[in-house]
Amino acid sequence: MQLFELIPAASVADAVKAQAASPTAQQGAPVRFIAGGTNLVDYMKLDVETPRQLVDINGLPLDRIEPTPNGGLMIGALARNSDVAHHEAVKAQYAVLSQALLSGATTQLRNMATTAGNLLQKTRCLYYRDTVYGCNKRKPGSGCSAIGGQNRMLAILGTSEHCIASNPSDQNVALAALEASIHITGPKGDRVIPIAAFYTLPGKTPERETVLEPGDLITHVSLPALPAGSKSLYLKLRDRASYEFALASAAVVVKTSGGRIEFVRVALGGVGAIPWRSREAEKELQDKPVSTASFRAAAEAALHDARPQSQNGFKVELSKRCLTRALAMAAAPSTQA
Ligand SMILES: Cc1cc2nc3c(=O)[nH]c(=O)nc-3n(C[C@H](O)[C@H](O)[C@H](O)COP(=O)(O)OP(=O)(O)OC[C@H]3O[C@@H](n4cnc5c(N)ncnc54)[C@H](O)[C@@H]3O)c2cc1C
Repeated sequence: MQLFELIPAASVADAVKAQAASPTAQQGAPVRFIAGGTNLVDYMKLDVETPRQLVDINGLPLDRIEPTPNGGLMIGALARNSDVAHHEAVKAQYAVLSQALLSGATTQLRNMATTAGNLLQKTRCLYYRDTVYGCNKRKPGSGCSAIGGQNRMLAILGTSEHCIASNPSDQNVALAALEASIHITGPKGDRVIPIAAFYTLPGKTPERETVLEPGDLITHVSLPALPAGSKSLYLKLRDRASYEFALASAAVVVKTSGGRIEFVRVALGGVGAIPWRSREAEKELQDKPVSTASFRAAAEAALHDARPQSQNGFKVELSKRCLTRALAMAAAPSTQA
């Protein structure tokens, strides 16, 4: 691990100014914010990230979870994953988020991990994590060792010939289904970006993962109110029951009326280069009867464009079954979500 300087940020403006000195907010940024440190420090130990300055934002007043006037919720960037998961309003109104957070990592990690840090966590692709290998995300132009290599855990949706890394987060899949907004303050002022426009597909520039620019500090994540009577749920399939990333997961929000689907939101995890909102599945489900046939048709639509690699073809069917099951559970009359 390289030597670095740790600077406590005295204010939001201070933090923004310090990171704005960096030429990028993306991979390889020489100045980085540090929150829980559970992701960044991992990658510093592996020499995957080598910042010369860390701006410690933990003293900033950004850890509140508060209702918004329109019935939604505003979650501070520094709210810890445990605090969000166990918050009464989150459990009552956004069960999918609570379940997604509790399915990730361990209690100790969730006690440190923050909402914004989770939004920006890096892929677990073996080749990104090991500097011996070529990886376009870590070192642009060095190739993608995962194509034809160890790719069992990696993405099948949204990939490119330059990168097939999967986004590992559970939280972000739930936030995609909940249509969260990301609140940012930066050198040019404040802006609010829908999560659907926050992540960038790898394309030819996999080292760029979000729309963040130098100095951009995430301050909050807001959730809109869901339609009254909707239920939400997160289902995660993985190699072992805990302390493991998703092979496939599904976050769903469903409202039924008279045996038909009145409102639905769908996002998939473990299979996308980014947290994968499936508008194809939503379109397939809208106004359809609540039935296994409808759920399966939605799953077929969601995975229609899947491009599996040498070792992860099984994810196509696994993801379909995961979504079909999640929809059935969320739409079942007895489900408390
Ligand atoms: C062993 C292990 C198992 C795990 N298992 C899972 C799992 O099953 N599911 C899952 O979803 N996750 C899992 N995780 C990942 C974990 O959720 C993340 O490490 C955590 O959420 C990162 O949050 P943090 O606050 O520690 O981020 P940090 O490490 O502090 O920061 C991460 C990144 O976010 C940036 N950043 C932080 N805050 C801000 C901000 N306010 N504005 C702008 N940039 C910011 C940092 O500069 C850095 O680039 C696991 C992690 C470990 C170590």
